[in-house]
Amino acid sequence: MKDKLLATLRKHVVDERVLQAIAAVPRDAFVPQELAEQAWENAPLPIGCGQTISQPLVVARMCELLELEGDERVLDVGTGSGYHAAVLARLVAHVWSVERHAALSAAAARNLQATDVHNVTLAVGDGTRGFPDAAPFDAINVAAAGAEIPHALEEQLAPGGRLVAPVENGEQRLVLLRRGAAGLERTSLERVRFVPLI
Ligand code: SAH
Repeated sequence: MKDKLLATLRKHVVDERVLQAIAAVPRDAFVPQELAEQAWENAPLPIGCGQTISQPLVVARMCELLELEGDERVLDVGTGSGYHAAVLARLVAHVWSVERHAALSAAAARNLQATDVHNVTLAVGDGTRGFPDAAPFDAINVAAAGAEIPHALEEQLAPGGRLVAPVENGEQRLVLLRRGAAGLERTSLERVRFVPLI
């Protein structure tokens, strides 16, 4: 099952470190027990509170777009199950992940503990405000779709930093921001389907 998923991802993702991280994180440990058998399918799954764990291909693409090399400090908005944070955690030095539902954050903490992930700091709160205490970040991942990228997140992006977020205006697309010497460069990419950023 895992091999089939990895074969699918390989058609769209070239970053070998990202593919290895997906292979290494047991997604079955991040979904409700009764859905564990579907955990290696390339599909989103319900995780409670009306939210979903993202599709593995989208997680892999977003990680690849952030061009992670290993020493980065990363902000993740929308912890959900903690799965995306766990994949990021294998690719970088440290992840700060913010979730507005306390129950989901508590479950994510258990999932990360159970899978031996120790370089993720969880917080409950409004992720559209970022995480000022740990800013700036080399990379920012947003896992819920808003009409625009929250200004606070742009401000917490370090020089050279990358941010990836689903943006909804008529249709939903991944948007990549890069803080270059001349300011923020913006690229609109493939269509996606995320739950709303509240
Ligand atoms: N990355 C998650 C899935 C994310 S689903 C995983 O791997 O499982 C999107 C999550 O964003 C949901 O859990 C939702 O509650 C959360 N969310 C939405 N708006 C938010 C906000 N303003 N601040 C923090 N979390 C938010």
